[in-house]
Order: sequence, then C-alpha cells, then structure tokens
Amino acid sequence: MAVIYDRIALVGLGLIASSMYWAIKRGGLAGEVTGYARSAETRDIAREIGLCDRVCDDIGEAVRDADLVVLCIPVGVMGATMEQIAGSLKPGATVTDVGSVKRDVIEQVTPHVPPGVHFIAGHPLAGTEHSGPRSGFAELFDNRWCLLVPPEGADAGALAQLRSLWMGMGANVEEMDADHHDLVLAVTSHAPHLIAYTMVGVADDLRRVTDSEVIKYSAAGFRDFTRIAASDPTMWRDVFLTNKDATLEILGRFTEELFALQRAIRQGDGEHLFDYFTRTRSIRRGIIEAGQDTDAPDFGRATRK
Ligand code: NAP
Repeated sequence: MAVIYDRIALVGLGLIASSMYWAIKRGGLAGEVTGYARSAETRDIAREIGLCDRVCDDIGEAVRDADLVVLCIPVGVMGATMEQIAGSLKPGATVTDVGSVKRDVIEQVTPHVPPGVHFIAGHPLAGTEHSGPRSGFAELFDNRWCLLVPPEGADAGALAQLRSLWMGMGANVEEMDADHHDLVLAVTSHAPHLIAYTMVGVADDLRRVTDSEVIKYSAAGFRDFTRIAASDPTMWRDVFLTNKDATLEILGRFTEELFALQRAIRQGDGEHLFDYFTRTRSIRRGIIEAGQDTDAPDFGRATRK
C-alpha cells in the first residue's frame, strides 16, 4: 500500500494509538510515526516494544512537522491538549481525534485550531477492555467502522486523505453529524456500558451475602457483563460527563422498557416476554450478518476441560 502521510504524530500511546501504529506499519501508510505520552513510564514501554519510530519526551517536538496529528487521549483532555500543541503545528497539517464522544470534543478543540490547520473529528468503533501501550494490535480496526465528523466546509483533500488512512488500516469509513453520532453511540455503546457497570456493582453487593458464589459460579450473562465493566475508568467517566444528554435520553427509554418487562414477569405474561426476546434475538442475527461479531457459541471461547 502507498504512503498516505509522510509524518504522523500519535498523542497518547494507549490501546487505540498502539493499534493505529501497528496497523499503519502493516500497511506501510506513513513515512515516519512519532509518539508522545504524558508519563515517562508509558514512553519507556513504547521505546522498549518498538511502538512508534520515534518516541518524544516533549509533546511539541512530537507534533512538529507532522502532516497528521491524532489525539488518542481521554475525551476530557482533548481541548487542553489541542491548546498545548497549537503553536507547534505545521501549516496545512490535519488534526484528528479518536474520542468516543463527538459534539463535546469538537466544542473543546475547535477554538484552539490555528488558521490553516484542518481539524476533522473521528471515532473508530473498535476497542477492547484492555488499555495501555502494550494492548494494541494491527487487526483491531479490520472490518470495523470509523466515523468521521468533518466541520462544515471541510477541506476535501484533507478529508479524503484521512479517509484513506482509516481504510488503509482496515476500517470502513462513514461520515456522520456530531449529534447523531452521540445518540447512536449512546444506544450501541455508552448505555450498555453503564448497565454492565451497574449489574456488576449489584453483584458485588450481593457477593457479601452469598460468600463469593457470584464469582465462583459466574455464568455467561454475568461474565459477559464483567468484561465490559473492566473497561478503563477514566475513559468511561469522561464519556458519561461529555455525552450526558444522549445517555440520559437512552437510559430513560431503557428504564421504561425494564418496567414493562418487570410487569410482564409479575403478571406471568409469557407472551409478552416471548415476543420481546424473539425480537431481540433477530437483532443479534443482524449484527452477525453485518460481520460485526462472531457466530461461534459463547463468543468462540475455548471449552474448558
Ligand atoms: P488508554 O489505553 O487508556 O490510553 C490513554 C492514553 O491517554 C495514555 O497514553 C495516557 O497516558 C493518556 N492520558 C490519560 N490521561 C491523560 C491526561 N489527563 N492528559 C494527557 N494524556 C492522558 O486509552 P484508549 O483506549 O486508547 O482511549 C483513547 C481514546 O480513544 C479515548 O478518547 C477513548 O474514548 C477513545 N476510544 C476508546 C476505545 C476503547 O474501546 N478503548 C474505542 C474507541 C475510542 P499515560 O499512559 O502516560 O497515562
């Protein structure tokens, strides 16, 4: 594959940045990739495992002369970081981000974008419950979606180049409006995470009653919730603080549905429960057919002996 950017700077070196680096290398998509993380510990690990062609101790040095800067840090610090790097950016450079919320990030970042620099917000819909520089892998974005949220009147060349990079990293790319993005993600990711956190929290309370049976006999439903609930606390705190309205809207609807199911259980309304579960089962089939998850039983977990 051809080089798409001569120089790319990754700011933040966690799961998403490290996956991007390995995917960029796999595709030969950049001449040089520089990297920066706030802690010396992360920078040392990056050097040790060969993450980035050059790891910089100074954020300004990392982004200087970069044709593309990718902000791979928690949503809550995007604006302050953009302010910090603004003076070091090359004219004509593109800045993008990978944050899980878009309206708030765009509002934080845009005031600090210098004239002649293009800011195009982005969000790869791919991740795991692991974090940090060692957690990334080149295949993370393969056949996943990356949503780009360009500002009105965005530079067509800059947008096409960013789109090519994501496609080169294996993703399918689509453009979306920021508010629509935040609502869609509240349904597909943010509210489900909150529900998983709640369920695991409830079980943790019960554990004291049942003397650790919750862990010992952990069955598929609960075990799957715990995987989601193991996700990075900083990232998810920021997601809920910055996607407040859409998450509260979806949680309101969720509560109404939950009450309806509660009533059906109380009244012994098996027909309601059966119809509801039949409908939800077909949604799962749709996800498999769209190639967004495995059809293997129990997510392909190896059978324990
Ligand atoms: P991660 O593995 O936890 O890495 C986060 C990086 O941000 C680390 O390098 C960390 O630096 C740095 N960082 C943390 N707090 C910071 C602060 N206050 N100021 C400056 N840098 C800070 O996170 P990630 O999963 O890659 O997530 C990065 C972004 O991608 C987030 O905006 C998240 O919403 C988005 N995202 C995540 C997923 C997912 O499933 N994980 C999926 C799609 C998008 P140190 O290592 O030095 O602490």
